[in-house]
Amino acid sequence: MSTPTKYLLQESQMPKFWYNIQADLPQPMPAVLHPGTLQPIGPDDLAPLFPMSIIEQEVTTEREIEIPEPVREVFRLWRPSPLFRAHRLEKALGTPAKIFYKYEGVSPAGSHKPNSAIPQAFYNAQAGVKRLTTETGAGQWGSSLALAGQIFGLDVTVYQVRVSYDQKPYRRALMETYGARCVASPSNETEYGRRVLAEHPDHPGSLGIAISEAVEIAAQREDTKYALGSVLSHVLLHQTIIGLEAMEQMHMADAWPDVVVACTGGGSNFAGLAFPFIGHGLRGGAKPRIVAVEPSACPSLTRGKYAYDFGDTAHLTPLTKMHTLGSTFTPPGFHAGGLRYHGMAPLVSHVRELGLMEAQAYNQVDCFAAGVAFARAEGIVPAPEANHAVKGAIEEALRCKREGKSETILFNLSGHGHFDMTAYQNYFAGNLKDEGYDEKELAQALSGLPAVPA
Ligand SMILES: *Cc1c(COP(=O)(O)O)cnc(C)c1O
Repeated sequence: MSTPTKYLLQESQMPKFWYNIQADLPQPMPAVLHPGTLQPIGPDDLAPLFPMSIIEQEVTTEREIEIPEPVREVFRLWRPSPLFRAHRLEKALGTPAKIFYKYEGVSPAGSHKPNSAIPQAFYNAQAGVKRLTTETGAGQWGSSLALAGQIFGLDVTVYQVRVSYDQKPYRRALMETYGARCVASPSNETEYGRRVLAEHPDHPGSLGIAISEAVEIAAQREDTKYALGSVLSHVLLHQTIIGLEAMEQMHMADAWPDVVVACTGGGSNFAGLAFPFIGHGLRGGAKPRIVAVEPSACPSLTRGKYAYDFGDTAHLTPLTKMHTLGSTFTPPGFHAGGLRYHGMAPLVSHVRELGLMEAQAYNQVDCFAAGVAFARAEGIVPAPEANHAVKGAIEEALRCKREGKSETILFNLSGHGHFDMTAYQNYFAGNLKDEGYDEKELAQALSGLPAVPA
């Protein structure tokens, strides 16, 4: 067969509940600590930044959380998203493995990120919030929240990492098209931004700095809250719609994965696909291997330390236990802007410590080669972040070929790369480099981890 098979769900089959893996884990998550007192925080400590409905989702251990109908109504714009069998890629690789992929690039913003932006905007609007602040690296999250803010009548200000702001003008244009205000970070609008600029007027910015700026503004203003696009447990919860749909679609295909693969930046699309499968296994179902793929230039899961750390550079956020490279770690330049965060979601880190998943790291040139092979076989051009998942899936398929096994591989194609063609141009021109991170800088960033009594 030469055409890919597409597995589509009816709108009425879209999940009505998100899945919360915290209900099924053998051990609870480590506490989140107050940055000043080092004592566990309570819901009130987070109230300046998030509405109570979201704080409850952050900590709940209920297994199923209802998706509000107004959110499902917006999701119908692009959900349920398709699942494909990659026949042509299988043939190109000469593998006996069956490769399936869930495609999240069909959302208006082009990635999985609106799956959380839409409910976050909904809950904020419901709580009477007027403005949202956030950060964005490559612009995927910023454009998703811009869209969500427009739908639910919220003003959105996005602090975009300076290098991306300069290098990716089209993502900024997309945010402005959806009605958001986009500011290059570090900026003069915040005390922290002004402090960074005073020391380094040409600072290229980082996600950690942009988060500090967005949090600073939200903490000061009564009508303003903050929204984060990954890392936090409620974001991971919202993304589980990916895996819940994929389970239904694998049933339609009369198949079940032996291996589940996704890329990890902050961990949200990975958790979205993988957590429902891990939970199914914890409740007595089949246990597929679960593989996270990260960039070797920013390897929090494979090289980071499992320790308490700050989520931002100015140290305004609570301390969470996670795999971290240190909050001051700045990765070398590479194109998967969504995978440049210093830490991993505390919930994904906890699942890793419990031995329920594996992690691998690949360099960007190999990931682009995998992405180009995928585009030539299947037609879709993956986002540079998603190329990591493609690479991971291809490696599994080639292992199956060597071992003569016809395993079933399922991976998440988290977004399309239509705004990232400059990166592809650089790849074809041979200009992409694989700069390793600086071991000395990593050691220094790790030595600066906050001291927390055991
Ligand atoms: C942001 C992004 C990622 C990385 O974020 P996670 O929270 O780890 O999912 C991956 N793929 C795409 C397309 C993204 O936009």
